[in-house]
Amino acid sequence: MSDEVLEIFKTAGAIKEGHFLLASGLHSPVYWEKFRILQYPDFTERLCRLIAQHFKRQKIDVVAGPTTGGIILAFETARQLGTRGIFAEKEGGARVFRRDFEIAPGQRVLIVDDILTTGSSLRETINAVDTLGGTVIGIGVLVDRSEKNLDFNAPLFSCLRAPTTVYSPQECPLCAAGIPLVKPGAPS
Ligand SMILES: [Zn+2]
Repeated sequence: MSDEVLEIFKTAGAIKEGHFLLASGLHSPVYWEKFRILQYPDFTERLCRLIAQHFKRQKIDVVAGPTTGGIILAFETARQLGTRGIFAEKEGGARVFRRDFEIAPGQRVLIVDDILTTGSSLRETINAVDTLGGTVIGIGVLVDRSEKNLDFNAPLFSCLRAPTTVYSPQECPLCAAGIPLVKPGAPS
């Protein structure tokens, strides 16, 4: 299964090597460009199928993801589960559900995201669900590249586990070597 997933990422050219500034503020020699995958509905459907299959017996009421990749993943996973798909947007240092999205108290929520590194986007989305009184049943991600296994107080499923080295800016050997830092997604 992991081999097939890795093949999808390679085929799509989603695994980049260099010196990257991650959304978390950390630096890494590897960057997973999720939109190389998400631009292909076929790849997205196949990866979301793994997540949907894993949680299909959990009576999920709604699938929620953090912007931006989480919008597409929540939509497709919800489509396969026959539920709603919603997304949580940045507001200050937190995330909130806008757009008149609703989660009724006690509703069973599956959270989805693309690349898990530090888990901050997931934690913000979990908090947004908690705020509305929803129950987080599980978390599904495309790639878990966290160095250590993270604990979210809910079962985590990843299509692919690929721990990757990250550095704080102060300790980054790529910075020390004078290699230009690239911010993925920024206009070039
Ligand atoms: Zn660096």
